[in-house]
Amino acid sequence: MAGISGSGLEGADSIVASGGYEDDLDEGETLDYTGHGGNDPGTGKQIADQELTKGNLALAKNAASGLPVRVVRGSNLDSPYAPSSGFRYDGLYFVENYWHERGKSGFLVWKFHLQRDDVAPPPWQEHQSLPPAGKLQTFKKATTTLRVVRDTAVARWVKELHNYTCQVCGARLKRPGGPYAEGAHIRPLGTPHNGPDTADNILCLCPNHHLLFDRGGFHVADDLHLIGIDGCLLTKESHAVNVAYLAYHRDHWGLPPRATGQI
Ligand SMILES: [Zn+2]
Repeated sequence: MAGISGSGLEGADSIVASGGYEDDLDEGETLDYTGHGGNDPGTGKQIADQELTKGNLALAKNAASGLPVRVVRGSNLDSPYAPSSGFRYDGLYFVENYWHERGKSGFLVWKFHLQRDDVAPPPWQEHQSLPPAGKLQTFKKATTTLRVVRDTAVARWVKELHNYTCQVCGARLKRPGGPYAEGAHIRPLGTPHNGPDTADNILCLCPNHHLLFDRGGFHVADDLHLIGIDGCLLTKESHAVNVAYLAYHRDHWGLPPRATGQI
C-alpha cells in the first residue's frame, strides 16, 4: 500500500506506518519515516532510488508549511509502538526535517523526521496517563516553533573566530547581549547522521542561512563555491572545512557527492 496520502501541491494529510520499509526508526514520540517509491510491488523489495515526487514531495511540503500529518501505525510495523492488531490512529505529527540517504537496500530513500504533537497523550500510554473520569485533562503544551540551536564549546570557538559573521552572506547580527550567529553542523549530529562536533564540521551562519542549509536550500561545493545560491563560502585560514562533510550534506539532498560550484 502507498503509505502517504496527499498531494505535492497541498501537502500530506495522513501516513500509514506499517512496516513496508526496513529503514523506519520508531521511537514513539518521533518517527523517522521512509518515503515511498522505488520498490517492487510484488516483493516489496527496494529496486530503485526514491524520488522527491508524489507523497514524498507532499511530506516535504508539510515540513515547509508547518502543517501536521495524521499518523496511523499498523501491526506489521517492526516497532514496540505498533498496535497488537490492525491499525491505530496515533495523532498529529510535525515533519521537522527530511533528507536523502542510502537505505539498507543500497538505494537512495527519502527520510522524514516526524515529531508528535503532544496536546493529547499517546495511545500507547493511555492506561497510565488518563486521569480519573471528571477531572480536567491537562495534557496541554503549546505548540512551539522555537528552533533549538546547539551551541557547543567548539561551535562557540568557530563563531568567535569568524567574529559572529555569516560565512555565506557576511551579515553580523548585533543585539544588546552581543553579536548573534549560529554554529551549523554540516554533517548533522545525532542519529542517523552521527556527524562529529568538531570545528571542520561546523560553519558560522546567520539564522536564515543556517535554516536554509539544514533544509537543503543550498550546498557548498568542494571548491567552496555555493550551489543553489550565488557566491562562495567566506573562510578564515585557521578554520578549515572538511570536504567529506560537504559531500555528505550534498549527497543527503540528492546532489552528486563530487559536485562542483559549476552545476
Ligand atoms: Zn547569512
